[in-house]
Amino acid sequence: MRLKIFWDSGALTGLELPAGRAIEMILGIPVEVEENGILLSGYYAGRRQYDAQKILHHLQMFKRKHVISGYILLVTPRDLFVRGTDFVFGLARESTGVAVVSTARLRNEFYQREDNEDLLLSRISTEGAHEAGHLLGLDHCSDSQCIMFPPETLDQLDGKKKGLCLVCTALLQGIYRPPVIDSIR
Ligand SMILES: [Zn+2]
Ligand SMILES: [Zn+2]
Repeated sequence: MRLKIFWDSGALTGLELPAGRAIEMILGIPVEVEENGILLSGYYAGRRQYDAQKILHHLQMFKRKHVISGYILLVTPRDLFVRGTDFVFGLARESTGVAVVSTARLRNEFYQREDNEDLLLSRISTEGAHEAGHLLGLDHCSDSQCIMFPPETLDQLDGKKKGLCLVCTALLQGIYRPPVIDSIR
């Protein structure tokens, strides 16, 4: 199964291909990147945020309508929340194979720190691989350096390595088998 990344305009052009490659390396699945063509709904003017559940619902409908069999990960600059939280970095719905990641709080400028594109790329890759990891069937992990660790702060996110821990790697090998490429007989 492959992962399609829908890259929203405004989520910094130029980072989509390196981010796609990094996610491909971390999870070992084929990744394709394309420009996002879906209009986002679920904006709450009072919070100036988008409801991540509504975005996932929208992605799910798009996936069904266009008969996309792989997973979809939307990368958007819009700030996201789910009911009962102040914000979320991202959200995944394993049952339907759709996920979303926001770059809004991954940028240094959000915290009045100096912008850093390398750090931003690293964070998008880490957070993107985390949500895509959920799509592949992985749960949260207690190893703070593992991709599947749920970070609550940017510093926790930055503390993660660009990979899965040994336990999650073994789990992934058990639940996900990469497509076999036909060999010449
Ligand atoms: Zn998670
Ligand atoms: Zn782990």
